[in-house]
Amino acid sequence: MSLVVVGSMAFDAIETPFGKSDRIIGGAGTYIAWCASNFTPVKQISVVGGDFPESELAALTARGVDLEGVQIKKDEKTFFWSGRYHLDMNSRDTLETQLNVLENFVPVVPDSFQDCEFLMLGNLVPSVQSSVIKQLKNRPKLIVMDTMNFWMEIMMDDLLHTISLVDVLMVNDSEARQLSGEYSLVKAAKKIIAMGPKYLIIKKGEHGALLFHGDQVFFAPALPLEEVFDPTGAGDTFAGGFIGHIVRTKDISFENMKTAIIVGSAMASYCVEKFGTERLREISKADISDRIAEFVDLVNFDIKLVVE
Ligand code: AMP
Repeated sequence: MSLVVVGSMAFDAIETPFGKSDRIIGGAGTYIAWCASNFTPVKQISVVGGDFPESELAALTARGVDLEGVQIKKDEKTFFWSGRYHLDMNSRDTLETQLNVLENFVPVVPDSFQDCEFLMLGNLVPSVQSSVIKQLKNRPKLIVMDTMNFWMEIMMDDLLHTISLVDVLMVNDSEARQLSGEYSLVKAAKKIIAMGPKYLIIKKGEHGALLFHGDQVFFAPALPLEEVFDPTGAGDTFAGGFIGHIVRTKDISFENMKTAIIVGSAMASYCVEKFGTERLREISKADISDRIAEFVDLVNFDIKLVVE
């Protein structure tokens, strides 16, 4: 059982209607690793600059995240992203993206990662994501990919190529519309599935997530929370919970993906409770079980339809 995670490791600066952070640790790969390591060991592929704190790398190692595939470019700067959330906390504007070390990143898959059975391609340069797939000598049982509007705007051809290679694609609703040119999410899903992936997950922030496969659709709500403090990383945390559950159970059926979506949603609901990765570092296995139980209660209803 082996999970390889690819994704950005970053500094983020976040503004929400309720507060502002200085440069804090972020990145899609970072959130995925913090989350998925609750379920399985993680082998991480990424790149950071000399300014990325060693203590952060040590904290991930202590969580069971193998960093042999993380390159440290001593004389360069770590990827930086800043964003501002709108009042509804469901939408945001990117204020700045400084690629820095990501600009010329050539990933190298270590030999010890060749046993990869599950591959989680977190948000990153699409050609880096596809390069990792190509370097693996055996195709993993399941390849899951996340991406973002940023890459649709500047590297659509590379992005479409990478999408054609994966089994499961995750995007949010506005990205699904942008990628397909369709407003209806059902039509968008049909078009995106025709691009290659057998499964499509459309994340709708506080409105939950949809899983499409063939003619089947499954919907999972998001937990209604009194307070959302910082939604950054919720999508990546969702991805980490989804793939973490799949790896732990080694079951890639549609039925098990439904459960994986609930696990992902439960993990994301913790992520948004504090700034950055703070909340993910605190939660225990018991917290995770409690939150999953809340989801079961949320959607569990007994209905007897009597139509005469
Ligand atoms: P999410 O809120 O789940 O969409 O993910 C937010 C994280 O994605 C932040 O921690 C950012 O550092 C990271 N991020 C933002 N833009 C990019 C990008 N273009 N490529 C890779 N990672 C990014």
